[in-house]
Amino acid sequence: MLPYFSQKFGNPSSITHRFGLEADAAVSLAREQVASLINAKPEDIFFTSGATEAANWVISGLCAVKGRNRVLLSAIEHAAVREPVNRLAASGFRIGTCGVTLQGVVNLTEAQNHLLEPVHLACLMRVNNETGVIQPVMEFAELVKGRGGLVLCDAVQAAGKIQVDVKKLGADFLILSSHKLYGPKGAGCLWINPKFKKSGLKPLISGGGQESGFRGGTLNVPAVVGFGKAAELSQKRLTENEIRLREFRKRIEETLLTHFPEICIHGREADRIPGTLLFSLGGHRAGRLLKELKGLAVSTGSACASGNREPSPVLKAMKVADDLARNTIRISLGHPITDSEIRDACELLLSAIRKLKSPH
Ligand code: PLP
Repeated sequence: MLPYFSQKFGNPSSITHRFGLEADAAVSLAREQVASLINAKPEDIFFTSGATEAANWVISGLCAVKGRNRVLLSAIEHAAVREPVNRLAASGFRIGTCGVTLQGVVNLTEAQNHLLEPVHLACLMRVNNETGVIQPVMEFAELVKGRGGLVLCDAVQAAGKIQVDVKKLGADFLILSSHKLYGPKGAGCLWINPKFKKSGLKPLISGGGQESGFRGGTLNVPAVVGFGKAAELSQKRLTENEIRLREFRKRIEETLLTHFPEICIHGREADRIPGTLLFSLGGHRAGRLLKELKGLAVSTGSACASGNREPSPVLKAMKVADDLARNTIRISLGHPITDSEIRDACELLLSAIRKLKSPH
């Protein structure tokens, strides 16, 4: 990224001279790298400021064009999807919310019932950001397609952690965020299925015709370059990381459950991405536990919802009791983590929980 802040300062839209051409070539390479991560074509990738912008683009741009008024979403969508959908409700759209099982997997029978009435757009994330539970997007998309609807898939937590293949998922739109795969913050993209006529989606940001006329505004070249490189690296490390992180998480879970069998690990029976672990310690304040875990960078619930005292909508949808839902700790394992760090983390967790449980 560094040269694109200073030495290579061209604007990728100014391709009448070599500085612009240099920046344009860097953006093209990044587009190829991101496309390759999800088995897409570079021309179907549109860079944005992040996944939130990409979701807003699809949800507001699409519905405004078609004038149909029913949208379906799962009860566990991230606020980046949930909030723009809620805004549609305020302007007269009808919203259907599809529940999940106790393990946090979208309920396909319920989806089928919702689809008795046609929907225009249906949203299902590939991986939930709180539980790490993988969602059956292929099956969901098939149901929605059968009713003539379009599918938006939030793949932010999946990309770089498990294989994401747009040819298999069956979605029409897919959103990614750079910083979830070790790229810089403030970059992301929207992938649009080439089968969907792009002209059916109005730009969210109109302007100078960048991104083939679909997203106005000069691109943040260093961030885009970093996003591309991060996509390339995470693709290379995917299999190795999957195996390592799955093993590490298993060790943490087994340590916790061996000593404190009352601990509830949310979504444990479901298929989950390797590095995410969300657990509740009945009757004990997660905030107090966090204070005891000073050496660990962990959070209560998701980063976006921590600080909010309401139980997360995800755990509510999974019918987790309020007391447990308010007292969750989420551990996310990053790829550089080492064996000895996992050992230390287990020891820290055990002594912190023991301290919390001791009567003195
Ligand atoms: N979707 C999910 C599942 C996320 O976890 C996040 C960020 O935490 C987003 C969307 C929003 O991504 P961005 O920060 O790039 O807007």
